[in-house]
Amino acid sequence: MILLVGNWKMAPDTVAQAGVLAKKTSEIAKQYKKTVLTTICSPSVFLGTISKQVKPWFRIGAQGVAADVAIAQTGFINASQIKSLGAEYVIVGHSEMRARGDTNETVALQIVRLLEKKLKPILCIGERERDMQGWYLSDVKEQLEIVLASISKSSIKNIVIAYEPVWAIGAQALREATPAECREMIIFIRKIISDLHGEKVANSIPVLYGGSVNDQNAKSFIIEGTAQGLLVGRVSLEPKRFGLLAKSIATI
Ligand code: PEP
Repeated sequence: MILLVGNWKMAPDTVAQAGVLAKKTSEIAKQYKKTVLTTICSPSVFLGTISKQVKPWFRIGAQGVAADVAIAQTGFINASQIKSLGAEYVIVGHSEMRARGDTNETVALQIVRLLEKKLKPILCIGERERDMQGWYLSDVKEQLEIVLASISKSSIKNIVIAYEPVWAIGAQALREATPAECREMIIFIRKIISDLHGEKVANSIPVLYGGSVNDQNAKSFIIEGTAQGLLVGRVSLEPKRFGLLAKSIATI
């Protein structure tokens, strides 16, 4: 099964729009349900509404969780609250959250909180830039190792990893990654997990690619890039293109 995850980020503006978008996305998901499992990670305020569309082929998720369980945290939401709204997945470690101060240690704690409540973390990792010396590999290694050190071997299988090179994300992206760059990093990620927890665990974790994925390039990240799925930002807000994207990977 290919995991297709949409990250709506801070869109849309109204709950009515979110309801319509979720319905359209769920209809798309139904068409490709044999091979693609679609999840939408929406702003938390919309989860209750879009949970009406949840089906075996369409799941929902949030985009962040409090690392700490203390109640006195104005503005944060906890894992129980997310779960009670029907979410199954939660994006953590997204570069836009890291840019606002989330460290590897914070992300590790967030993952612990999610796993405690049987939610599935989608852990985003990725380098800010690529250098000729290969230092970018150590950034990714550090991001992964700090998180993996704080969770048990038995919980790791509930995590999804999304390789998202920061330079390839969003409207400011330099470019999308090439499928070869994606493949290289996925091999590297699996090697790190394998060194810590063995090959079986390493091979059981889905590794997605995210960064300027669209209906034209999606298939290549799965076939040549060897990603088990995709994390899609902008195009997840455009049902027509998202449908074409889903179609392009459904027949692989
Ligand atoms: C993202 O923000 O996770 C992302 C992948 O965005 P986009 O697809 O717009 O590059």
